[in-house]
Amino acid sequence: MKKRILIVDDKETIAKLVAMYLSDFDFVYFDNPIKAISWLHEGNIPDLIISDIRMPEMMGDEFLAYLKGNELFKSIPVVMLSAEDSSSARIKLLESGAADYIVKPFNPMELKIRITRILI
Ligand SMILES: [Mg+2]
Repeated sequence: MKKRILIVDDKETIAKLVAMYLSDFDFVYFDNPIKAISWLHEGNIPDLIISDIRMPEMMGDEFLAYLKGNELFKSIPVVMLSAEDSSSARIKLLESGAADYIVKPFNPMELKIRITRILI
């Protein structure tokens, strides 16, 4: 059975790009974390979550904090996508429990390798 990845990004093009390169996985997509959280609360537990950081309704770092603070969801690995490439931003997210951090624009092959390593 294919592993399932939840992707949350306000830009659907990013989600489509990721899904295209990671065709070994099944994807569920939401354009904001609030919708993703209600989907999770319906009993859906993905194998991994990929989340953007800058989103209008809820920022990715708040979404990460929510997930890591919830007993049901805290063990799901979360990979953050960001346009900001500052080491302080990366350190903050890794300290907050992110499994990895990938800077946009990313090389899809790098993303694929990083995601696959987490899921093996
Ligand atoms: Mg965004």
